[in-house]
Amino acid sequence: MDPRLLVEAVFRENPQLALQLRSYIAKLLEKLGEKWGSRARLKIMDFCGTHEWTITHYGLRTLMPKGLELVAGPGCPVCVTPSWELEEAMKLSFKGVTVYTYGDSYRLRTVSPVNGAYSLAEARALGGSVKVVTSIYDAIADARKYGKEAVFLGIGFETVAPGYAHALLAGLMPENLSLMSLVRLTPPAMFYSLSILREKPPEPPVMGVIAPGHVSTITGAKAWVPVAEAFEIPVVVAGFEPIDVMMAVALILRQLLQGRAEVEIEYKRAVSFDGDLRAQAAIHKAFEVSDAAWRGIGFLPRSGLRVREKYSEHDARTRYGIREMRVEEWKKDTPPGCKCAEVVLGKAKPTDCPLFLRKCTPSTPYGPCMVSMEGTCAIWARFGEGGVTEDMVRELGLLEG
Ligand code: SF4
Repeated sequence: MDPRLLVEAVFRENPQLALQLRSYIAKLLEKLGEKWGSRARLKIMDFCGTHEWTITHYGLRTLMPKGLELVAGPGCPVCVTPSWELEEAMKLSFKGVTVYTYGDSYRLRTVSPVNGAYSLAEARALGGSVKVVTSIYDAIADARKYGKEAVFLGIGFETVAPGYAHALLAGLMPENLSLMSLVRLTPPAMFYSLSILREKPPEPPVMGVIAPGHVSTITGAKAWVPVAEAFEIPVVVAGFEPIDVMMAVALILRQLLQGRAEVEIEYKRAVSFDGDLRAQAAIHKAFEVSDAAWRGIGFLPRSGLRVREKYSEHDARTRYGIREMRVEEWKKDTPPGCKCAEVVLGKAKPTDCPLFLRKCTPSTPYGPCMVSMEGTCAIWARFGEGGVTEDMVRELGLLEG
C-alpha cells in the first residue's frame, strides 16, 4: 500500500488518535506549568483562514485544555484587500472594462461608493461590467471568446501566484486581458502581527504559530525561519485535517517544553523545507516584490507582488494608469464600527465586535472579515465559537458543563 494513502486514512479516520492527542496536549501543558513554576497560560496563533475554518468547524477549541487559547491571524486574502484597489476596479467596470473576480471578492464592500455602488456585485447591478470566475484560466477563456477589454483581479497569497505567473510567462493572456496583481506575501504579515503583539503583549501571550500549509507548499517551511528566530517561538507548518492541527499544537508545546524555537513541518505529505522551486522561479520571473497595503493593517514593506515591466502590456496598472496607493493616502480602510483590523491581528475575537451577527452577517457582510469562507468573522458566524461538534463532544463526556 502506498504509505501516503495510509497516512491519509489515519488522519481522516482515527478518533482514537484525536483522543490520545487531546490527553497529550493537556499533559504537555501541565508539564510546562511545572517548568514555569505556575499554571501555564498561552495563546497559539493560527495564521491561515483555512486553519481557522478547521478549528472552528470541528470545534477544536473545545478540545484544548484550560489555559491554551487558539487565536486567528491575518490569513485571509480577501479580508486584507484594500478598499482603494477594489474602488479602482469598480471604476473600470463602469467604463466598460470587464472585471473578472472571484466569488468572495465580488461581495466585498468598499469604504467609499463608486457611482453609488459599494461592491463589485452592486457595480454589476448598476450597469458595471463584472463577471465571476473561479480562476485566471476561466478569465483567459472568456476574454478570448468575447474579445473585450478586460481585467482579472488577482487577489490571493503565494498559493495563487504561480498560476498568475504561468499565465504571463506562457503567453496565455489574450491581448485584451490584463492582470491587476493584488497578491500579498504572508511572511511579512506574520512578522508584523507578532511585532504588534510583542509591543503590547496580550494576556496570555502568543507563544507559538501554526503556519499556513497551502502557502508553504510554494514558499517552503524556510519562509518561517526568520519568524521563529526573531520572536524565539516555535512555528509549525500544519495540514488542514483536525488531527493535523492538534498535532501542530502538540509539536509547539513539545518545543516549548524542550526550550526550542524552531520551524517544524507537520504537513510533510505536501510541504518541504525548500518548497516548490519551479513555482518560486516562475513567480520571480513574472513579478517583483513591492511594498503593499493590507486592509485594516497598513503598508507592509516587501509584502506584495507587482507585474514586471517586461509583461507590462498585461499589467492593468500600466494599461489603465492605475497608480499604486501612496503610504500617506492609506487610511484605516474598514467601515465605521468594524473591528476587522483587530480581528486579523489576533487582538480581538469576532464576538468582541458589536456589529457581529447584527448589522454584519454572512448574507449581508458589512466588514471585510465577514465575506470569504476564510474570514474569521464569517467562520465564527457560520459555526459558532465552539464549532458544530461542541454538542457532540459534550455528549461523549469529553467536556464538562
Ligand atoms: S463582525 Fe463584521 S463589522 Fe464586526 S469585525 Fe467582523 S467583519 Fe467587521
